Amino acid sequence: MACPREEYEALERLLVGPDGVRSADSRGREKPEEPCPVRTCFQRDVDRITHSKAFRRLRDKTQVFLRPEGDHYRTRLTHTLEVTRLARTVARALHLNEDLAEAIGLGHDLGHTPFGHAGERALRELKGSFFHYEQSLRVVDRLEKDGAGLNLCYETRMGILNHTYGAPDDTREATVARLCDRIAYINHDLDDALRAGILRPEDIPARITEACGDRTSARINSFVTDLISGSAGGEIRMTEPMAEVFDFFHNYMYDAVYRNPTAKREESKVLGLLGSIYDRYLRYPEELPELYRRLAREDGLEQAVCDYIAGMTDSYALQLYSRLFIPAAWTG
Ligand code: MG
Repeated sequence: MACPREEYEALERLLVGPDGVRSADSRGREKPEEPCPVRTCFQRDVDRITHSKAFRRLRDKTQVFLRPEGDHYRTRLTHTLEVTRLARTVARALHLNEDLAEAIGLGHDLGHTPFGHAGERALRELKGSFFHYEQSLRVVDRLEKDGAGLNLCYETRMGILNHTYGAPDDTREATVARLCDRIAYINHDLDDALRAGILRPEDIPARITEACGDRTSARINSFVTDLISGSAGGEIRMTEPMAEVFDFFHNYMYDAVYRNPTAKREESKVLGLLGSIYDRYLRYPEELPELYRRLAREDGLEQAVCDYIAGMTDSYALQLYSRLFIPAAWTG
């Protein structure tokens, strides 16, 4: 009987050029496994991430706006899906491995804390060192499946670790995912800032709208098509003029949105909230769930408490805080 995976691996020899990673050439998994008869190793990684608990929790984690009340704001999950779609499109156009780009896109934010970057800063302050991309790798290697990990391929793991700007590049698929992450978030965060009334359409600098359009879809399309044409020579990058607009846009978002006092008004409360939970479990480690008690024995208590908190959704952290620190109403 024909083996669908082997057929697809043969197809990859046509689809994936010399700059990409063919799944048959993967450096493989830390714990060797029998290959799947149907899926390539990277297709299998995509499925493992999609079926993970950490992936499902992304739906209730802040992207930028804390606890927004409207239905249409991005969450960490919709951000992840937008990044992944862009990464697949760019990888396909550049004859790279789409499935590897997809796996990296889907996994890149699994280590994000509740309450977005405010939560990340809080954990960094509490523990001394915390970066969501390192935590993403820890989620897939150490925390998923009750501590067994997902045993993903080396290239997927390195792509998840390297998704932050300036990290040494491992594969071109990882670089594509990293740039698509930035294209996605500055555009959707601008869209959400307009939705929130933090910016008005006329506030957007003309340099941005003139170079790449006055709608979110047009702007994303401009950056993605430029990234594809700019990367024709092999190095993954935008053309010089568009890269300058992109940097300008990125800086504008920092000034106008990410550091905007209205958007950040509630952020100082996040340190208090997560700090209280953190201190509580350092004092009473026996109250941690079973997995984290085991991790505390194996990796240290601070790491285990950090793992527990980083994995929480926004709602879970709020409910836990309320259960731990707010007296329940007397109901007779
Ligand atoms: Mg991201």
